[in-house]
This record gives sequence, C-alpha cells and structure tokens, in this order.
Amino acid sequence: MQLENYIEGKFIPPFHGNYLENLNPAENIVIAQIPESTAEDVELAVKSATNAQPIWSTTPLNERIDWLRKIAAALDLRKSEIAMLESIDTGKPVKLAERVDANRSVSNFTFFADHAENLAELRFEMADATNYVIRKPVGTVGLITPWNLPLYLLTWKIAPALVMGNTIVAKPSELTPLTANLLCEVLDSINFPKGVINIVHGLGSIVGQAIVEHPKISAISFTGGTATGKIVAATAAPMFKKLSLELGGKNATIILDDADLSIAAQGAARAAFTNSGQVCLCGSRILVADAIYDEFVEKLVSEVSNMTVGNPQLTDTDIGSVISQEHMNKILSYIDLAANEHGRILTGGKQLSLPKPNADGAFIAPTLIDRIPIDSRCATEEIFGPVATIHRFSSDEEAIDMANLTQYGLAGSVWTSDTERGKAVAEQVESGILWVNTWLHRDLRTPFGGVKNSGVGREGGDWSLNFFSELTNICVKDD
Ligand code: NAD
Repeated sequence: MQLENYIEGKFIPPFHGNYLENLNPAENIVIAQIPESTAEDVELAVKSATNAQPIWSTTPLNERIDWLRKIAAALDLRKSEIAMLESIDTGKPVKLAERVDANRSVSNFTFFADHAENLAELRFEMADATNYVIRKPVGTVGLITPWNLPLYLLTWKIAPALVMGNTIVAKPSELTPLTANLLCEVLDSINFPKGVINIVHGLGSIVGQAIVEHPKISAISFTGGTATGKIVAATAAPMFKKLSLELGGKNATIILDDADLSIAAQGAARAAFTNSGQVCLCGSRILVADAIYDEFVEKLVSEVSNMTVGNPQLTDTDIGSVISQEHMNKILSYIDLAANEHGRILTGGKQLSLPKPNADGAFIAPTLIDRIPIDSRCATEEIFGPVATIHRFSSDEEAIDMANLTQYGLAGSVWTSDTERGKAVAEQVESGILWVNTWLHRDLRTPFGGVKNSGVGREGGDWSLNFFSELTNICVKDD
C-alpha cells in the first residue's frame, strides 16, 4: 500500500517524492509506504486550507453540521475496516479497536454535530445595555496527533474545528497513518468540500514543526508527549497562536482500605493495561492502603496473569504488541531500571516470544512491580507501556501526597465503598480528570485535559468549540 497526502481534495505525492516505511509492530513487517513530506507539502496544504476558508467559514452552521453527520454516516459503514487498520498499524487487539477506536471515531462527529446544534446562546443583560457573543472561526488550524488512538484522537480535533468553520491542516503520527488515509477516502466518497481538510504525512520534526511554524496557521491543537509539547509551545507561543496541549501522564489508581477488592483489582488492571498501557489516562501507579495491601495485590496479580497476550487479530487476545521495537526497548529498559531501583517484579517483566506470524513482534508481558520507591524514576516518569508500579500508603493524606508527587497531572481513579470519602480524596489530587470507582468512563461534554506538565487547556464539549472559535462580545447600549 502506498499512501499519499490529501491536499485540496486530491491524493498527491510528496513534493520531493520520498516515502517512509510504515510497520505492523505485531509482526514486524512493512505494511505501507507513506509520504516523507517536507515544508513544501505543508505550504501547499496551507494554501489549500486558506483558499477554502472564505467559503467554509460562511457556510451556515446547519450545513456544516449536516456535513459532520454525512462524514459520520460514511465512516460508520467502514467501522470494521477502521478496527482492522488500527489493529495492524498499532498492534492493539482488533476487538479493542472495534469497541474503542472505531466507535469513537464515528461518535466524535455525531457528538459535535449534536453539541453545536444545541450550543447555548451567550447573552449578558446590563441595566442599560445588552451584550451578546458571536463565534467566528479561528481560521486555518493545525492538528497534530499521536499513535496510540490514531483516528479517535484525530477526529476528536477535526470534528469541532470543522463545525466551528475552520479549515484544517492535520498531521497524523508517522507510525499510524492508515486510518487518517481512510478518512480522506471517506471525504472523497461523499464529495466533501475540497481544501477544507488537508492531511500531510511525515515526520514530526519536519512536517509537525512546519505546521506549528507556519504564520498562516492561527491555532495549534496538539496531543502527544510532554517533551514534544514543550517544543510546540516554544515555537507557537511567540507567534501568539491559540494553543491546546494534551500531553503525557503518570496517573495514580488509589485503592482505599474500604474498597471492594475484587472490583478494584479488575478496575486497576484495566486502568493499567488497556492498550498495553499506551493510553495517556492509564493508571501506571497503583497506590494501595496498608491494611488491604496483601489481599489486594494477590487479586491484582491474579487478574493480570490471566490476561491473554497474543495475536491482535484473534478475538480472545486482551493485550497485543506495543507500538514499535524501539518503544519496546524503551519499556524493557525501565523494567531493567526497576531492579536497580530495588523493585520486585510480581508478574511479567519480560519480552514475550510468540508463534508465527508474531514471532518478531514487540510483545511485553503485563508487568507489576512493587517495593519500589514512590519517587523512583520508574514511578515518576511516563513509561507508556504495560508496566505499573504498586506502592503502599497508610492514610488518605499520604495517598494524596503520593499521587501528587509527579510532574504530571492528567488523570486518576479512587476506589472505595464510601463515595464521599472517594470524592474528598479525588478533589485533592492535582489532575484534570478523576474517577471514583470507575476508569475511562467518558461523557464527551465534560472538560478533558491535564494540569502541571500534562498540558494546557481543555478539550470536550464547549471547551473544544470555544478553542476552535474566536468569541466576539458585542455590547449594544439601550435606546
Ligand atoms: P510524540 O510527542 O512523539 O508525537 C505526537 C505527534 O507530534 C506525532 O504526530 C509526531 O510526529 C508529532 N511531532 C513530533 N515532533 C514534533 C515537532 N517538533 N513539532 C510538531 N509535531 C511534532 O508522542 P507519541 O509518542 O506519538 O504519543 C505518545 C504520547 O502522547 C504520550 O506521552 C501520551 O501520554 C501522549 N498522549 C496524550 C494524550 C492526552 O490527551 N493528554 C492522549 C494520547 C497520547
């Protein structure tokens, strides 16, 4: 398969004619060639997007909403293909990709269509005047996304940007380009207005950087690692671009002494190992109350040891491969480091060799490590793989202090039979998203984003629509 960029409604080869290899990490084989684009391709995409801007921004809101619904309907017909492509591109189990990636990629469009349709009018009456707020598009926006939830996160940005009247230059991760290409095929098949959405494939340091630097791109919505976010912010901030940064996490799962231990063990295992631990919201630090530590850890180890790691294409697989050989080596280096940091491996802790066709795939057994200091590198740095550390605490206050010990502040969960106690703990954790007795239970209307080094700004519902619009207040003095 050879992919091309999608610019001005056409699939076109990269300016310099160079291509990168795209691999299936579960089999370590090349599955596609993708454009190794450069600043010239970004220039072309920006021209296409800025040319389309006057017409798209003045297309009435109800027509833009109709377009979102048409995209959703056309994507819906290709859901099983989306799941299959995400699975071969990322190594995640196809059943997970069906349940999570394919469904959310469609519902992102229907959700933002509904949300924009019901957007509350902003009006502020004064004694002698009335203020009303209108929304204008920001202009041409740059969207940059990671590999862990490829189409899910791309459409999470595209849908609100589109409905608010912006035109788009987007760059999917070079590791997972296949479903962005499928989206372009879908746009083509429904005769979506040309130039409104442009997709440029290639390396982050070249294509991503060229998007962030481009003076005609007025806003950047970036999801990815904290180190990359720093570069994006350093480039975009002096240009006074609107900036949304959704970055890394090192989230705490807090098990209080009154939790239902079976439910909490299932929840903690799911939070730690969904998508091989490669979800920014994954609970990679499990904090456990002293009084129930041994009983809980025994249940958790049993949950995790029962997970089936294997061929992502098989329906009984719980955990597939990680994203690449390089990432696998990084994760394994943290497992080695854990030994130096006095950690004890309770289960996993090694690369797995599987039968063909996965013999050369990047598989790691889900790994639990305890007895490792809460301020160790393994317990404070984002590993972004199937590795979780377990730590003991003796009071709710200590659990909160431990949860707040990292540079990150994205998410977390608290498990307890006392909801009020759970809420009291959750409210003191320095994170943007906390769950009590659940994990990754998402209502798309709610604010999503992190504090500290996990990001700047919020996405979701009104927050996304506000980011992708310029709010203009008009104050009219009474006669
Ligand atoms: P990454 O930062 O390496 O890459 C993200 C994207 O940025 C890719 O498309 C990449 O090509 C691009 N990029 C790289 N250098 C760039 C540059 N100089 N300028 C512009 N773009 C550039 O992240 P990744 O490895 O793809 O994804 C994993 C990370 O993403 C983890 O840290 C994870 O926590 C984070 N993440 C966060 C969220 C969230 O909502 N907070 C969601 C998913 C993933």
